[in-house]
Amino acid sequence: MIVVLKPNTDAEREAQLIEWFKSFGLGVHVSEGQFQTVLGLIGDTSSVDTDLVASLDIVDTVKRVTETFKCANRKFHPEDTIIEVGDLKIGGGNFTVIAGPCSVESEEQIVGIAKAVKAAGANMLRGGAFKPRTSPYDFQGLKAEGIELLKIARQETGLPIVTEIMNASDLPLFEDVDVLQVGARNTQNFDLLKELGHLKKPILLKRGIAGTLKELLMSAEYIMASGNENVILCERGIRSYSDYLRNTLDLSAVPMLHELTHLPVVVDPSHATGLARMVPPMALAATAAGCDGLLIEVHNDPPHALCDGAQSIRPEEFAKLYGKLQAVREAVR
Ligand code: PEP
Ligand code: MN
Repeated sequence: MIVVLKPNTDAEREAQLIEWFKSFGLGVHVSEGQFQTVLGLIGDTSSVDTDLVASLDIVDTVKRVTETFKCANRKFHPEDTIIEVGDLKIGGGNFTVIAGPCSVESEEQIVGIAKAVKAAGANMLRGGAFKPRTSPYDFQGLKAEGIELLKIARQETGLPIVTEIMNASDLPLFEDVDVLQVGARNTQNFDLLKELGHLKKPILLKRGIAGTLKELLMSAEYIMASGNENVILCERGIRSYSDYLRNTLDLSAVPMLHELTHLPVVVDPSHATGLARMVPPMALAATAAGCDGLLIEVHNDPPHALCDGAQSIRPEEFAKLYGKLQAVREAVR
């Protein structure tokens, strides 16, 4: 249930109403907007008399929310969530470009790519240290050492770092990481999501391999219900009928998610297509569709990349793309 308060409601009356809702055993999510305050009630609201609440003089409107996702629901939080990573703002009209290799391979590789993408305009550096590979015989990532190398690259460039966590038991290694990524294979690892909900750190949550939008939002809800509201959603393509492409990029997910949720939505055209030459056109299309940012795999030597070389663009291609992205943003503004 959501309760919209009248403008300029007295803070004491608002607090009393919140306490009253809590006496029913409900959680109350307060969203203070520029013009109105919205109280989102979480839990079983069946014993709350809607007509009684609507009749209170400080209440503007009351609505029952039928969707199962509450914290992530735009009805609970009408304004866009803006997630802060240092000075960087994600969501709410800001455009964030996250770039870097699939995996961290060496200090020279990650620092070199970090410098190149930073010079081209990127806002954050990505790089996998723990890699979820389909084959156990493939490179599994440098793990703890990879995280240390990402920190060196951050120090050299000032770019915040994003890297994937696969197991909650590794959390101590991620203490100094700026944004934790949950990969498509772990989107429904609910125990991991609950653990990440106990942090304050931003979580980049990817859509599951064949995940629906509702499933993605319910995964975000797991993190948020445990207390961490800093969730960035990522459309990375879904398994469907694609034969020549790795996945099918669902661009309509962008405006649909913006309708359903206040969380920022970024698009990953690299895993969505699996082919470097498809990345620039789909990055531009995603930008035109209104995404809040992009996650793009960039490698200095794609043919020799230890992971996802075929879908990695080179730094000079990234720089060229970055310029076009700004033109598309301008055109659709
Ligand atoms: C990645 O970002 O390198 C990755 C493994 O992505 P996904 O989980 O979307 O496959
Ligand atoms: Mn990858």
